[in-house]
Amino acid sequence: MSAMILENFATQKWVKGQDGLVDIKSAVTGETIAQTSSNGINFKAMADYARDVGGPALRKMTLHERAFMVKDLALALTERKEEMYALNAHTGATRRDGWVDIEGGAMTLFSTSSQARRHFPDGHVILDGAPEQISKHGSWMGQHVYTSMKGFALHINAYNFPVWGMLEKLGGALIAGVPVIVKPATATSYLCEKAVRIMIETGVLPDGALQLIVGRTGDLFEHLTCQDVVSFTGSASTATMLRTHPVVIQNSVRFVAEQDSLNACVLGPDAKQDSPEFELFIKEVATEMTVKAGQKCTAIRRAFVPKHMMDAAQAALSARLAKTTVGNPDSDGVRMGALVSLSQREDVRSKVTELSEHAKIVFGDINALDPVDASNESGAFMSPILLRCDTPWNAPKVHALEAFGPVSTLMPYDDLEDAVRLCNEGLGSLVMSLFTHSPDVARDIVLGSASFHGRIAMINRDNAKESTGHGSPLPVLVHGGPGRAGGGEELGGVRGIKHYMQRTALQGTPDLIAGATQTWMKGAAQVTDGAHPFRFNFDDIFMGKTLLTKGRTILLDDIEHFAEFTGDSFYAHMDQAAAEANPFFPGRVAHGYLLLSFAAGLFVDPAPGPVLANYGLDNLRFLTPVSPGDTIKVKLTAKTKKKRNPEYGEVRWDVEVTNQDEELVATYELLTMNAIEH
Ligand code: NAP
Repeated sequence: MSAMILENFATQKWVKGQDGLVDIKSAVTGETIAQTSSNGINFKAMADYARDVGGPALRKMTLHERAFMVKDLALALTERKEEMYALNAHTGATRRDGWVDIEGGAMTLFSTSSQARRHFPDGHVILDGAPEQISKHGSWMGQHVYTSMKGFALHINAYNFPVWGMLEKLGGALIAGVPVIVKPATATSYLCEKAVRIMIETGVLPDGALQLIVGRTGDLFEHLTCQDVVSFTGSASTATMLRTHPVVIQNSVRFVAEQDSLNACVLGPDAKQDSPEFELFIKEVATEMTVKAGQKCTAIRRAFVPKHMMDAAQAALSARLAKTTVGNPDSDGVRMGALVSLSQREDVRSKVTELSEHAKIVFGDINALDPVDASNESGAFMSPILLRCDTPWNAPKVHALEAFGPVSTLMPYDDLEDAVRLCNEGLGSLVMSLFTHSPDVARDIVLGSASFHGRIAMINRDNAKESTGHGSPLPVLVHGGPGRAGGGEELGGVRGIKHYMQRTALQGTPDLIAGATQTWMKGAAQVTDGAHPFRFNFDDIFMGKTLLTKGRTILLDDIEHFAEFTGDSFYAHMDQAAAEANPFFPGRVAHGYLLLSFAAGLFVDPAPGPVLANYGLDNLRFLTPVSPGDTIKVKLTAKTKKKRNPEYGEVRWDVEVTNQDEELVATYELLTMNAIEH
């Protein structure tokens, strides 16, 4: 096939670099399959276009509109996935590897979109935590909020997951309202370029929301401001160079890094050679070595077993690795494809040579291999390499040097404390895994090691079938890690969106804060006249709309009837002497659930109307006991609302139940589903 010339997508135009084309070779055949350059691109114009055109257009949309837009991107990528699979094998990846990248990438967008719609309001401001009442009389309060940053996100990605690596960051930034400039790693940029074309062709992205650089980033770093975010995935050396760029330092540009990681895997001391955890451990280490030819930031680089199990683990791992067929990823039966390039293979070979100073190769050969349907000279193939190091405390390189290929080192530990210290010797990783059936071992590992690892996967016979494994970052869980792993965090449900937003502490009167956040705050204006709040459909109900009910006196008969009816005859309601002996109660008191039921009886408007369902209570607290003879009443105020679909939306009501002395008896938030009128 003739080499395709990749194009940058800058200021809404597809443009080739003017000169200096770089050849990109197939990992499998060594042929040049693409050429790329970004020479001649006006990077300042790209930055300005993102900030001045893309950002404002995105921020006009609500959080939910942006989340639906991201869902549309995921749908298009799913529909046109075969166009990406057609390029996948050139990266050295098997179809199974490609699934993680291509369909896993789209699934990450779907998930991020759904999380945002579930957890965020359909507006522009996200509340962070509860309001803080600071002053005695309530006129001076605080509320933390997130709003969109006003710059752009520069996403610099590694070569190993050209689609997923882009999408895991892209979804969060776009939903946050921040336009993105993507810069993929050159080696696999043709696959990323294809994915960007598919997304641009959907037409759902506003102009300037997404731009692409296929080549160097020129002087782009010179134009970064305090409103921009650089999110980097790659090697520690490149991360260090970029995060110490003078403009990044001077403007405190937010810099998120995901980099090399010496991820560990531990077989718990409770495991025996015939326990299921031993087999699961062996399977996981072998899988992590061979999926994507070990070019995974989360791959297991250090595998620890109790000292007396070293020989058994080595034998079992070697037997398993021997079954790995390496070769052309398109050929039948091939389990492991190629590394991304011949130069990457050289890099891995030299790293293994260095590691061999402290460990010996017990499986595989860094040079010899006869790949299926391919040549070892022109394709970047390599056998899985298992190293064994019996003296992990005298082997600093094993804990510090990442061979980014199908390479792992097996090591012994003495006891659990030793295992914890050895895991932490990697000085920060993305993920560690533990194979144990003992909750006590889990506790010791978590207390000893969690602060060194971004994720800990604990796998055993009970969850193995459903487990997603050691190496898979999930959209709903954070991906990132301290120290050597870069100190960054991505994904994690809605957490990954907030990386592109600024948290600000607002202070003011409840009315000002309610106005700014479009959320009613205690102490803000309440409108009590007009129709009953349950007569309003979703679009018409407004924040602060309030109902004050009449009172209802609680009788001893009510309490007895409720106890008999529900079966709840707890002594505090039924036994005067026992209730009096309880420090919380003055004597027999009403059931909390009776109060809730009576409260509902006071505030509902019974006739059919726009309220379709009551679907729950949040933050319920019973604050003052209610004795027979007390009179309760209710204040119900519309607090915030969130559209759920074209037919209905959720209204959140603030509810206060008070007694005859205006003391708070109960507070909670009531959730109703209200119809949208068409
Ligand atoms: P890399 O060489 O550090 O490159 C990473 C990215 O930085 C590429 O897009 C590269 O572009 C770009 N880059 C390099 N120099 C630059 C500069 N001066 N200005 C702007 N951009 C620049 O890493 P890689 O070889 O692609 O990936 C392998 C490494 O990434 C491994 O160490 C692996 O552990 C790590 N990784 C980490 C994670 C994670 O989540 N923690 C995930 C995947 C990979 P060019 O390709 O054009 O040079």
